Amino acid sequence: MLLKPEEYIERLSGYRRDIYVLGKKVEDFNHPNIRPTVEAMAFTYKIAEKYSPHSELVGEKVNRLNYVNSTFDDLIARYEYQRELSLRLATCNYRCTGCDAINAIYPATKALDEREGTDYHKRFLEMLKEIQKNDYACTAALTDVKGDRGKRPLEQRDKYLRVVEKRGDGIVVRGAKISQSGAFAADVNFVLPTQTFRQGEEEFAVVFAATPEDEGIKYILQNTGVQAKQREGGKFEAGNRYGDRTTCMVVFDDVFIPWDRVFIFEDLKATRDVLSYFASSHRCVGAACKAGFIDSMAGAASLMLKTSGLEGVSALQQKVAEMVAFSEAAFAISIGAAVKGANYSGCWLPNFQMANAGKVIGVDAFAKALMNLIDISGGIIGTSPSEFDLEMAGDFLQASEKFTAEQRLKIVKFIEFWATSSHLVGAFHGGGSPTAALVTLRFLIDMESREEAVKNCIDF
Ligand SMILES: Cc1cc2nc3c(=O)[nH]c(=O)nc-3n(C[C@H](O)[C@H](O)[C@H](O)COP(=O)(O)OP(=O)(O)OC[C@H]3O[C@@H](n4cnc5c(N)ncnc54)[C@H](O)[C@@H]3O)c2cc1C
Repeated sequence: MLLKPEEYIERLSGYRRDIYVLGKKVEDFNHPNIRPTVEAMAFTYKIAEKYSPHSELVGEKVNRLNYVNSTFDDLIARYEYQRELSLRLATCNYRCTGCDAINAIYPATKALDEREGTDYHKRFLEMLKEIQKNDYACTAALTDVKGDRGKRPLEQRDKYLRVVEKRGDGIVVRGAKISQSGAFAADVNFVLPTQTFRQGEEEFAVVFAATPEDEGIKYILQNTGVQAKQREGGKFEAGNRYGDRTTCMVVFDDVFIPWDRVFIFEDLKATRDVLSYFASSHRCVGAACKAGFIDSMAGAASLMLKTSGLEGVSALQQKVAEMVAFSEAAFAISIGAAVKGANYSGCWLPNFQMANAGKVIGVDAFAKALMNLIDISGGIIGTSPSEFDLEMAGDFLQASEKFTAEQRLKIVKFIEFWATSSHLVGAFHGGGSPTAALVTLRFLIDMESREEAVKNCIDF
């Protein structure tokens, strides 16, 4: 089934959730720090139809982000959907990690059942049917708070989500995940480990789905400059009506999860599999997502030149063209990785090396595009008065006669948002840092054949 945006919002408003902003419990989803994320997620429903595949599992059309990809065309369709979402939202679409989780848990549980004779995959398929039939918005929580990064989980149990009780009907989990994109506005939150584990660390090796009926989950919202501006109000002062890349800390305070929503339990090999599938899937789509973000920045750069009366300066237009080059290059990596991908237990995943390269180059492309945007826009994107000062300052702020002062201020605030929100940090760390992608690449690459070629070339 494909839901309408308003149906998703209506369903969400029926959930009783413990969401906290600035230490206070929020009563509904219309809070100025919450609503923009809800609107962004709702937008994924608005443009879903043209990207939606037919699912054999439920015998109907489903959202592309709730689908298990089986060909590279599936992956390409997903990347096109996400590029469009990034362009049109200029923020996270929030359902992307859910899609990566689905496409990681599916092959990992299938292989696990084949190896151990368990029924985790069957359980997962039952859950997936519900997700597809109800068009649930899914997110994924991996990042534990981790404490001292030099210590193992057993040395600091409270810093990693873990199983504290095993019952006949399910498990009880405790811990906290941080930097969770949009989890408070999702229907289903998949929970995966933050890292692989060694023998003896099995209590942390758990994958499950958290749903709205679960008791004991708290969502503590991030607080950034954009969030403060949202609380101040105004029509466009916060820059983007869909908000910052909004995350929260998710605290699991002895939460009971029934067995039918537990998909990996104490299996270290399956944990390794699910994480390597998730990382490649997420890093690859990240390049397509960044292409969409850079498209948005390029559009903003072009409008800024026009409102400032600079559109005739070819050196600046060159910078806009360069931004488009960054965007196309990032997107091309994700398409190439899709085509060069492979089938893992019935699920088509991108080429792992190219996916990790996509992360590294995608961040570079994003950062360079942002530098061009800032260069083109002038200092006003860091210094301008607010929309509330328009009456006093409007005449002074107007530049090209073709645009009003309010129009110029709108584009200024939008670019201020790109430059000062969580975007650059999100580009770096969402899906793991570029350093983490390089570490993965070092494991994957065949350096010997490269060295051999050089040796042959120079009669070494
Ligand atoms: C906007 C945004 C959205 C996000 N959304 C999500 C989400 O939806 N779901 C989710 O699960 N996570 C999400 N994340 C979290 C993201 O995956 C992490 O930020 C990322 O994996 C880095 O982890 P960290 O922040 O704990 O950094 P740290 O662990 O503090 O790492 C800092 C640096 O040190 C390196 N490092 C860390 N530990 C070691 C070590 N032991 N040895 C060597 N190097 C090390 C890292 O690679 C990194 O370069 C999001 C992050 C951001 C910024």
